[in-house]
Amino acid sequence: MLSVQTVHYHDSIDFNRPGKHLYELAFHYDGEWGNALVPMAVINGQAGPGPGLVAFGGTHGDEYEGQLAVWRLMHELDPAELCGRVILMPRLNTPACVAGTRESPRDGANMNRAFPGNPRGSLTARIAHFVTTAVLPRVEVVLDIHAAGRGGQQFALCSSFHEVPNPTQRAEMVQVASLFDTPFVLIYSSEMASGLLTDQAEAMGKITIGGEFGHSGGVLRQGLAHAYQGIKNVLRHYGMLAGPIERVDPHRGHPPRLVAATSLEDYLPAPISGYFEPIHEVGAAVGSGELVGRLYDFAYIGAPPLEVRSPRDGYILLQPFAAPTSKGDTMLVIAREVGP
Ligand SMILES: [Zn+2]
Repeated sequence: MLSVQTVHYHDSIDFNRPGKHLYELAFHYDGEWGNALVPMAVINGQAGPGPGLVAFGGTHGDEYEGQLAVWRLMHELDPAELCGRVILMPRLNTPACVAGTRESPRDGANMNRAFPGNPRGSLTARIAHFVTTAVLPRVEVVLDIHAAGRGGQQFALCSSFHEVPNPTQRAEMVQVASLFDTPFVLIYSSEMASGLLTDQAEAMGKITIGGEFGHSGGVLRQGLAHAYQGIKNVLRHYGMLAGPIERVDPHRGHPPRLVAATSLEDYLPAPISGYFEPIHEVGAAVGSGELVGRLYDFAYIGAPPLEVRSPRDGYILLQPFAAPTSKGDTMLVIAREVGP
Protein backbone atom coordinates (compact mmCIF):
# COMPACT_ATOMS: atom_id res chain seq x y z
CA MET A 1 0.00 0.00 0.00
CA LEU A 2 1.32 3.44 -0.89
CA SER A 3 1.67 6.08 1.77
CA VAL A 4 -0.76 8.98 1.71
CA GLN A 5 0.15 12.59 2.41
CA THR A 6 -2.43 14.91 3.94
CA VAL A 7 -2.06 18.38 2.43
CA HIS A 8 -3.44 21.52 4.07
CA TYR A 9 -1.52 24.05 1.98
CA HIS A 10 -2.33 22.93 -1.54
CA ASP A 11 0.26 25.07 -3.29
CA SER A 12 2.93 22.95 -1.58
CA ILE A 13 2.19 19.97 -3.87
CA ASP A 14 4.98 19.24 -6.33
CA PHE A 15 3.12 18.12 -9.44
CA ASN A 16 6.44 17.32 -11.17
CA ARG A 17 7.66 14.81 -8.61
CA PRO A 18 8.51 11.54 -10.43
CA GLY A 19 6.52 8.41 -9.56
CA LYS A 20 3.07 7.92 -8.04
CA HIS A 21 1.95 9.99 -5.07
CA LEU A 22 -1.35 9.81 -3.22
CA TYR A 23 -2.71 12.85 -1.45
CA GLU A 24 -5.66 13.70 0.70
CA LEU A 25 -6.34 17.38 0.15
CA ALA A 26 -7.76 18.93 3.28
CA PHE A 27 -10.53 21.46 2.71
CA HIS A 28 -11.80 22.77 6.01
CA TYR A 29 -15.51 22.67 6.74
CA ASP A 30 -17.40 25.95 6.63
CA GLY A 31 -19.16 25.74 9.96
CA GLU A 32 -17.16 23.54 12.30
CA TRP A 33 -13.68 22.15 12.91
CA GLY A 34 -12.85 19.38 10.50
CA ASN A 35 -11.94 18.74 6.90
CA ALA A 36 -13.16 17.09 3.75
CA LEU A 37 -10.21 14.94 2.70
CA VAL A 38 -10.34 14.82 -1.09
CA PRO A 39 -8.31 11.98 -2.63
CA MET A 40 -5.94 12.76 -5.49
CA ALA A 41 -3.20 10.78 -7.23
CA VAL A 42 -0.43 12.48 -9.19
CA ILE A 43 1.48 10.04 -11.38
CA ASN A 44 4.50 11.21 -13.32
CA GLY A 45 5.75 8.50 -15.65
CA GLN A 46 8.67 8.35 -18.01
CA ALA A 47 9.64 11.22 -20.24
CA GLY A 48 7.93 10.79 -23.58
CA PRO A 49 4.78 11.65 -25.45
CA GLY A 50 1.63 12.63 -23.69
CA PRO A 51 -0.29 15.84 -23.16
CA GLY A 52 -1.06 15.38 -19.46
CA LEU A 53 -4.46 14.03 -18.46
CA VAL A 54 -6.83 14.33 -15.54
CA ALA A 55 -9.79 12.02 -14.87
CA PHE A 56 -12.52 12.83 -12.35
CA GLY A 57 -15.10 10.59 -10.71
CA GLY A 58 -17.58 11.57 -8.04
CA THR A 59 -18.25 15.07 -9.29
CA HIS A 60 -21.74 13.97 -8.29
CA GLY A 61 -21.69 11.74 -5.22
CA ASP A 62 -24.49 9.39 -6.29
CA GLU A 63 -22.78 8.39 -9.56
CA TYR A 64 -20.53 5.43 -8.98
CA GLU A 65 -19.06 4.18 -12.28
CA GLY A 66 -16.57 7.07 -12.34
CA GLN A 67 -15.65 6.65 -8.68
CA LEU A 68 -14.87 2.97 -9.23
CA ALA A 69 -13.08 3.32 -12.59
CA VAL A 70 -10.85 6.21 -11.51
CA TRP A 71 -10.11 4.65 -8.11
CA ARG A 72 -9.09 1.39 -9.77
CA LEU A 73 -6.80 3.20 -12.22
CA MET A 74 -5.31 5.16 -9.32
CA HIS A 75 -4.03 1.86 -7.95
CA GLU A 76 -3.25 0.08 -11.23
CA LEU A 77 -1.39 2.70 -13.25
CA ASP A 78 2.34 2.12 -12.86
CA PRO A 79 4.63 5.12 -13.43
CA ALA A 80 7.23 2.71 -14.86
CA GLU A 81 4.77 1.85 -17.67
CA LEU A 82 3.40 5.34 -18.22
CA CYS A 83 4.62 8.33 -20.20
CA GLY A 84 3.77 11.83 -19.04
CA ARG A 85 1.54 13.03 -16.22
CA VAL A 86 -1.79 11.63 -15.04
CA ILE A 87 -3.84 13.21 -12.26
CA LEU A 88 -6.74 11.21 -10.85
CA MET A 89 -9.47 12.51 -8.55
CA PRO A 90 -11.92 9.63 -8.07
CA ARG A 91 -14.25 11.32 -5.55
CA LEU A 92 -14.08 14.99 -6.40
CA ASN A 93 -17.04 16.10 -4.29
CA THR A 94 -15.95 13.91 -1.39
CA PRO A 95 -18.71 14.94 1.08
CA ALA A 96 -21.35 14.19 -1.58
CA CYS A 97 -19.69 10.83 -2.33
CA VAL A 98 -19.61 9.92 1.36
CA ALA A 99 -23.31 10.79 1.63
CA GLY A 100 -24.22 9.21 -1.73
CA THR A 101 -25.93 12.40 -2.87
CA ARG A 102 -25.74 14.64 -5.94
CA GLU A 103 -25.04 17.78 -3.94
CA SER A 104 -22.70 18.18 -1.01
CA PRO A 105 -24.55 17.86 2.31
CA ARG A 106 -21.98 20.29 3.73
CA ASP A 107 -23.08 23.35 1.76
CA GLY A 108 -25.90 22.11 -0.47
CA ALA A 109 -23.82 22.86 -3.57
CA ASN A 110 -23.62 20.96 -6.83
CA MET A 111 -19.95 20.58 -7.82
CA ASN A 112 -20.92 20.59 -11.48
CA ARG A 113 -22.41 24.07 -11.16
CA ALA A 114 -19.65 25.49 -8.94
CA PHE A 115 -16.95 26.29 -11.51
CA PRO A 116 -14.68 28.21 -11.76
CA GLY A 117 -14.98 28.16 -7.99
CA ASN A 118 -14.01 30.66 -5.35
CA PRO A 119 -11.04 30.51 -2.95
CA ARG A 120 -13.13 32.27 -0.27
CA GLY A 121 -16.36 30.43 -1.04
CA SER A 122 -18.00 27.48 0.65
CA LEU A 123 -16.43 24.02 0.64
CA THR A 124 -17.60 22.97 -2.83
CA ALA A 125 -16.53 26.30 -4.38
CA ARG A 126 -13.08 25.95 -2.83
CA ILE A 127 -12.58 22.43 -4.23
CA ALA A 128 -13.69 23.70 -7.66
CA HIS A 129 -11.24 26.60 -7.38
CA PHE A 130 -8.41 24.16 -6.64
CA VAL A 131 -9.30 22.18 -9.80
CA THR A 132 -9.45 25.37 -11.90
CA THR A 133 -6.18 26.85 -10.68
CA ALA A 134 -4.00 23.88 -9.72
CA VAL A 135 -5.15 20.90 -11.82
CA LEU A 136 -6.49 22.10 -15.18
CA PRO A 137 -3.46 24.28 -16.05
CA ARG A 138 -1.25 21.18 -15.71
CA VAL A 139 -3.05 18.96 -18.24
CA GLU A 140 -4.39 19.15 -21.79
CA VAL A 141 -6.99 16.35 -21.59
CA VAL A 142 -9.87 16.43 -19.08
CA LEU A 143 -12.22 13.49 -18.50
CA ASP A 144 -15.23 13.81 -16.18
CA ILE A 145 -17.12 10.55 -15.68
CA HIS A 146 -20.80 10.88 -14.82
CA ALA A 147 -23.92 8.71 -14.60
CA ALA A 148 -27.51 9.81 -14.24
CA GLY A 149 -27.51 9.48 -10.45
CA ARG A 150 -30.61 8.99 -8.37
CA GLY A 151 -32.59 11.63 -10.25
CA GLY A 152 -34.66 8.94 -11.92
CA GLN A 153 -33.50 9.42 -15.50
CA GLN A 154 -31.64 6.98 -17.71
CA PHE A 155 -29.22 7.96 -20.46
CA ALA A 156 -28.17 5.78 -23.34
CA LEU A 157 -24.50 5.04 -22.66
CA CYS A 158 -22.61 7.98 -24.10
CA SER A 159 -19.48 10.01 -23.93
CA SER A 160 -20.19 13.68 -24.49
CA PHE A 161 -18.96 17.19 -25.06
CA HIS A 162 -20.34 20.67 -25.70
CA GLU A 163 -20.23 22.23 -29.13
CA VAL A 164 -17.10 24.40 -29.21
CA PRO A 165 -16.21 27.07 -31.81
CA ASN A 166 -12.63 25.91 -32.41
CA PRO A 167 -12.75 23.27 -35.22
CA THR A 168 -9.40 21.69 -34.26
CA GLN A 169 -10.47 21.27 -30.64
CA ARG A 170 -13.85 19.91 -31.79
CA ALA A 171 -12.35 17.35 -34.18
CA GLU A 172 -10.02 16.03 -31.50
CA MET A 173 -12.90 15.87 -29.00
CA VAL A 174 -14.93 13.74 -31.43
CA GLN A 175 -11.96 11.40 -31.79
CA VAL A 176 -11.18 11.16 -28.07
CA ALA A 177 -14.85 10.77 -27.08
CA SER A 178 -15.13 7.84 -29.51
CA LEU A 179 -12.38 6.00 -27.61
CA PHE A 180 -14.91 5.18 -24.87
CA ASP A 181 -16.66 3.00 -27.49
CA THR A 182 -20.10 3.83 -26.12
CA PRO A 183 -23.03 3.41 -28.53
CA PHE A 184 -23.30 7.23 -28.70
CA VAL A 185 -21.12 10.30 -28.58
CA LEU A 186 -23.47 13.11 -27.57
CA ILE A 187 -22.96 16.78 -28.33
CA TYR A 188 -25.14 18.46 -25.72
CA SER A 189 -26.41 21.93 -24.97
CA SER A 190 -24.42 24.30 -22.81
CA GLU A 191 -27.60 26.31 -22.26
CA MET A 192 -29.09 23.85 -19.76
CA ALA A 193 -26.78 24.94 -16.96
CA SER A 194 -23.60 26.85 -16.29
CA GLY A 195 -20.65 26.40 -13.98
CA LEU A 196 -19.85 22.88 -15.16
CA LEU A 197 -16.38 21.45 -14.70
CA THR A 198 -16.39 20.77 -18.44
CA ASP A 199 -17.41 24.40 -19.19
CA GLN A 200 -14.31 25.56 -17.38
CA ALA A 201 -12.00 23.04 -19.04
CA GLU A 202 -13.40 23.77 -22.51
CA ALA A 203 -12.97 27.50 -21.98
CA MET A 204 -9.33 26.82 -21.12
CA GLY A 205 -8.97 25.05 -24.48
CA LYS A 206 -8.64 21.55 -23.03
CA ILE A 207 -9.73 18.41 -24.84
CA THR A 208 -12.72 17.90 -22.57
CA ILE A 209 -14.89 14.79 -22.48
CA GLY A 210 -17.75 13.94 -20.16
CA GLY A 211 -20.17 11.07 -20.36
CA GLU A 212 -23.04 9.21 -18.78
CA PHE A 213 -22.21 5.64 -17.80
CA GLY A 214 -25.05 4.47 -15.57
CA HIS A 215 -28.07 5.55 -13.57
CA SER A 216 -30.10 5.29 -10.39
CA GLY A 217 -27.23 5.04 -7.93
CA GLY A 218 -26.22 1.58 -9.12
CA VAL A 219 -23.15 0.30 -10.89
CA LEU A 220 -23.89 -0.61 -14.48
CA ARG A 221 -21.41 -3.33 -15.45
CA GLN A 222 -21.24 -2.25 -19.09
CA GLY A 223 -21.05 1.44 -18.15
CA LEU A 224 -18.13 0.79 -15.81
CA ALA A 225 -16.34 -1.12 -18.60
CA HIS A 226 -16.72 1.85 -20.97
CA ALA A 227 -15.48 4.29 -18.33
CA TYR A 228 -12.50 2.21 -17.24
CA GLN A 229 -11.38 1.02 -20.67
CA GLY A 230 -12.22 4.38 -22.20
CA ILE A 231 -9.78 6.23 -19.94
CA LYS A 232 -7.08 3.63 -20.75
CA ASN A 233 -7.85 3.99 -24.47
CA VAL A 234 -7.35 7.76 -24.21
CA LEU A 235 -3.97 7.17 -22.53
CA ARG A 236 -3.06 4.72 -25.32
CA HIS A 237 -4.24 7.15 -27.99
CA TYR A 238 -1.78 9.78 -26.75
CA GLY A 239 1.08 7.28 -26.41
CA MET A 240 1.04 7.58 -22.62
CA LEU A 241 0.26 3.89 -22.18
CA ALA A 242 1.53 1.11 -24.46
CA GLY A 243 -0.79 -1.16 -26.42
CA PRO A 244 -3.54 -0.89 -29.00
CA ILE A 245 -6.92 0.80 -28.56
CA GLU A 246 -9.40 -1.85 -27.35
CA ARG A 247 -13.05 -2.18 -28.31
CA VAL A 248 -15.17 -2.19 -25.16
CA ASP A 249 -18.29 -3.53 -26.86
CA PRO A 250 -16.91 -5.68 -29.70
CA HIS A 251 -20.32 -7.25 -30.38
CA ARG A 252 -21.89 -3.93 -31.36
CA GLY A 253 -21.88 -3.69 -35.12
CA HIS A 254 -21.20 0.04 -35.48
CA PRO A 255 -18.74 2.59 -34.11
CA PRO A 256 -20.11 5.22 -31.69
CA ARG A 257 -22.83 7.29 -33.37
CA LEU A 258 -22.20 11.03 -33.20
CA VAL A 259 -25.52 12.59 -32.17
CA ALA A 260 -26.50 16.09 -31.12
CA ALA A 261 -29.04 17.68 -28.82
CA THR A 262 -27.82 21.26 -28.85
CA SER A 263 -31.10 23.20 -28.71
CA LEU A 264 -33.07 23.64 -25.49
CA GLU A 265 -36.05 22.39 -27.48
CA ASP A 266 -34.33 18.98 -27.64
CA TYR A 267 -34.93 18.57 -23.86
CA LEU A 268 -38.63 17.87 -23.40
CA PRO A 269 -40.16 18.63 -20.00
CA ALA A 270 -42.88 16.33 -18.70
CA PRO A 271 -46.18 18.10 -19.47
CA ILE A 272 -47.90 16.63 -16.40
CA SER A 273 -46.86 14.75 -13.29
CA GLY A 274 -47.43 11.04 -13.65
CA TYR A 275 -45.92 7.61 -13.99
CA PHE A 276 -43.89 6.97 -17.13
CA GLU A 277 -44.21 3.83 -19.20
CA PRO A 278 -41.33 3.49 -21.71
CA ILE A 279 -42.10 1.98 -25.09
CA HIS A 280 -38.43 1.57 -26.07
CA GLU A 281 -35.11 1.02 -24.40
CA VAL A 282 -32.86 4.07 -24.30
CA GLY A 283 -30.77 4.25 -27.46
CA ALA A 284 -33.61 3.18 -29.74
CA ALA A 285 -34.07 4.91 -33.08
CA VAL A 286 -37.49 6.57 -33.35
CA GLY A 287 -39.31 8.52 -36.02
CA SER A 288 -41.04 11.86 -35.74
CA GLY A 289 -44.50 11.40 -34.21
CA GLU A 290 -43.76 7.86 -33.04
CA LEU A 291 -45.17 6.78 -29.67
CA VAL A 292 -42.29 6.66 -27.15
CA GLY A 293 -44.10 6.53 -23.82
CA ARG A 294 -47.25 6.99 -21.79
CA LEU A 295 -47.75 9.11 -18.69
CA TYR A 296 -50.32 7.83 -16.21
CA ASP A 297 -52.06 10.32 -13.94
CA PHE A 298 -53.48 8.10 -11.21
CA ALA A 299 -54.99 11.08 -9.39
CA TYR A 300 -58.04 11.14 -11.62
CA ILE A 301 -59.79 7.94 -12.71
CA GLY A 302 -61.20 9.70 -15.75
CA ALA A 303 -57.74 10.46 -17.18
CA PRO A 304 -56.50 8.00 -19.82
CA PRO A 305 -52.71 7.60 -20.14
CA LEU A 306 -51.19 10.58 -21.93
CA GLU A 307 -49.35 9.51 -25.06
CA VAL A 308 -45.80 10.86 -25.43
CA ARG A 309 -44.62 11.12 -29.01
CA SER A 310 -41.20 11.83 -30.43
CA PRO A 311 -40.93 15.39 -31.77
CA ARG A 312 -38.36 14.37 -34.41
CA ASP A 313 -36.43 11.55 -36.01
CA GLY A 314 -33.51 10.50 -33.84
CA TYR A 315 -32.33 8.35 -30.98
CA ILE A 316 -33.68 8.25 -27.44
CA LEU A 317 -30.73 9.55 -25.42
CA LEU A 318 -32.70 10.02 -22.20
CA GLN A 319 -35.98 8.92 -20.72
CA PRO A 320 -37.25 8.25 -17.21
CA PHE A 321 -36.07 5.09 -15.47
CA ALA A 322 -37.93 5.71 -12.22
CA ALA A 323 -41.67 5.59 -12.87
CA PRO A 324 -42.76 8.75 -10.96
CA THR A 325 -42.12 11.78 -13.18
CA SER A 326 -42.82 15.33 -12.11
CA LYS A 327 -44.23 18.00 -14.36
CA GLY A 328 -41.32 20.01 -15.75
CA ASP A 329 -38.65 17.31 -15.28
CA THR A 330 -36.66 16.62 -18.41
CA MET A 331 -38.52 13.58 -19.67
CA LEU A 332 -37.13 12.93 -23.10
CA VAL A 333 -34.08 13.80 -25.15
CA ILE A 334 -34.21 12.79 -28.80
CA ALA A 335 -30.81 13.41 -30.38
CA ARG A 336 -30.27 13.51 -34.12
CA GLU A 337 -27.35 11.94 -35.89
CA VAL A 338 -24.77 14.41 -37.23
CA GLY A 339 -21.70 14.05 -39.38
CA PRO A 340 -18.27 14.25 -37.76
ZN1 LIG B 1 -23.38 13.75 -12.88
